[in-house]
Amino acid sequence: MLSGLDPSGGAGIQADIQAITSLGGHPLPVLTCLTVQDTNNVYNAKAIDPGFIRQQLECLANDIPIHAIKTGAMGNGAIVSILMDFLESRPGIPMIVDPVIKAAGGGDLADDELVEAMKSNLFAKAEMITPNGIELIQLGGCESEGLAADRLLMAGCKSVLVTGGHGTGTHIINTLYCHDQAPMHWEVDRVGDNEYHGTGCTLAAAIATGLASGLSARAAISQAQNYVHRTLLQALTVGQGQRIPDRGIPWER
Ligand code: PLP
Repeated sequence: MLSGLDPSGGAGIQADIQAITSLGGHPLPVLTCLTVQDTNNVYNAKAIDPGFIRQQLECLANDIPIHAIKTGAMGNGAIVSILMDFLESRPGIPMIVDPVIKAAGGGDLADDELVEAMKSNLFAKAEMITPNGIELIQLGGCESEGLAADRLLMAGCKSVLVTGGHGTGTHIINTLYCHDQAPMHWEVDRVGDNEYHGTGCTLAAAIATGLASGLSARAAISQAQNYVHRTLLQALTVGQGQRIPDRGIPWER
């Protein structure tokens, strides 16, 4: 996966490593950016040298079979271009794109150039993108979930999973939009009335692990939702801000 470092350990590359490992995968962590953050918010971010990331991707792919790619915070548009070049030379690897734009506390994790690079390049190569409601409105440019999801499908990705965790109510509705099919809904019990730090990363990494292990997209989503739900039932209070999922829960494979 390609994601950023959250030194509070709630989101980003640590979330990905823990989720993938718990579900039986072997993560190949490629770091895109460093951040200054705690459990409340992101205060600064710095992208990793794109040329270095190019070397890492080539080096890994020459040695290890890659069964899925998951992206999170991408650092900047140049890093997206590096990934596009890599995908060009190795087509067919399913990619889950978590279009990270802002931390839950409001801090920025993507500038306009990066958002544009994701929309006009990265999405077209994705098997699935996993925006939350807030990201969907920003990326799709309208308040209507269905219309915004359709606009993202037109960008070329195979499917859009809109996650409802940022809403309110006792249930979370996640909806999968695909080309030429009616939207499919999942209803998941909301755990507590808090926002958690790192749930989007955890869900997307878990879906990618399911796909890598040969599950269909729908089965991978169901497994990932169950996993995230269980990590939240035992969420950890590590700081003064948002709680984080306990991704070390025992999980039957
Ligand atoms: N990646 C990094 C490095 C982050 O710092 C964050 C949030 O702060 C995210 C991704 C997205 O986190 P979430 O899963 O809460 O949407």
